[in-house]
Amino acid sequence: MKIRRVAVIGAGTMGTGIALTFANAGIPVHVIEPSEDALARASAGVRRTYAQMAERGRIDAAEGDARLARIDMGASEDALAEVDLAIEAAFEDLAVKREIFERLGARTRVDAILATNTSTLDVDAIAAAAPHPERSLGLHFFSPANVMRLLEIVRGARTSEATLATAVALGERLGKVPVVVGNCDGFVGNRMLHKYRREAELLLETGATPQHVDGVLRAFGFAMGPFEVADLAGVDIGWRAKVERLRRGPSPFRLSQLPDALVAAGRLGQKSGAGYYRYVPNDRTPYPDPAFDAILADVRTRAGIVPRPVGDDEILRRTLAALVNEGAHVLDEGIARSPDDVDAIWVNGYGFPKARGGPMRYAATLGTDRVLADVRAFARDDPAFWIPARRLTSP
Ligand code: NAD
Repeated sequence: MKIRRVAVIGAGTMGTGIALTFANAGIPVHVIEPSEDALARASAGVRRTYAQMAERGRIDAAEGDARLARIDMGASEDALAEVDLAIEAAFEDLAVKREIFERLGARTRVDAILATNTSTLDVDAIAAAAPHPERSLGLHFFSPANVMRLLEIVRGARTSEATLATAVALGERLGKVPVVVGNCDGFVGNRMLHKYRREAELLLETGATPQHVDGVLRAFGFAMGPFEVADLAGVDIGWRAKVERLRRGPSPFRLSQLPDALVAAGRLGQKSGAGYYRYVPNDRTPYPDPAFDAILADVRTRAGIVPRPVGDDEILRRTLAALVNEGAHVLDEGIARSPDDVDAIWVNGYGFPKARGGPMRYAATLGTDRVLADVRAFARDDPAFWIPARRLTSP
């Protein structure tokens, strides 16, 4: 199906970035947003983006104006009758998203595609609120949506092949790297991130420092280490996802209390001037912080941990084994279609070093038997977390 005209529901961080993405690709977009404040912020953000692009010589003023003219900011719901695709990017709340899908189902054409930008909710539960689940799916853009190339296309239980094919072709037209994934908590990218981050946190409890863990992973080739990323994205973002997950059921494995302690101390990352590191105004350099060390020491004491030295090798092996093992689980479950898809997600969305091909290629180069040996060795102390994936035990 040809996508000629689009609606975006919600003009927050994601909705604004998604609108820019469509305008940049020459596709007119109607942005529906009930909050006047949010609309004003989104309009200013869009104008600022095009002004900056013009200043840097990436587009000329006429092109900036043409792109701006494609964004109908503050559209009425009447526009829904004309669109080929509607993407909701409202609050991460199932009831809100279901209510939006119900309205979209009633107000869009019978052949329009309905998409949700949810990061953590069940795409099928959202799709079920509209009359045609075969035309519904997840379009998981990454922040900032107009910059990040990865697009996870989440296939619901009833999403049709035609809907998926349309979404993949659209992703390419938007200049993205579209990867079809299955519906589960975190899809592919965030699900693997969750395991990698968990292990990085426990390395801190074991005795490492954020600068050591980040330094080792940067030396491996990551664009940024996990704690630099957490401080940039906001410590509260990952923490909120964790709290929400725990509300649905207890974690089968131990999780560090460090993010909870940081959030309780108001250390939300760069935006609050401190997180795993400390920051000075107008400078994104992460500086070591004795106040952080004190919080970490307290978390260790409460967990009954006596810190010990942690080497570079242990940091690399534990974080990467966690990442690769979860990638293999995702493949075992058919959530990702191929190791190349997993790799495309991690290289294009999570800063995994391109030269190493991606986590699954890296594991294949290293030898999956070595990864399995690590998983089994770590499982001796922590069996609930280190459950080897089937494709590692019988490749
Ligand atoms: P946000 O809070 O910045 O924006 C949400 C916007 O939706 C607000 O402006 C709000 O007024 C509007 N809204 C709420 N209810 C609405 C309704 N019924 N109709 C129309 N608009 C409504 O949130 P965000 O960070 O842009 O996230 C939006 C969605 O994208 C969430 O589902 C989130 O999980 C997902 N997501 C976020 C990120 C990220 O990094 N921020 C990344 C990927 C996906």
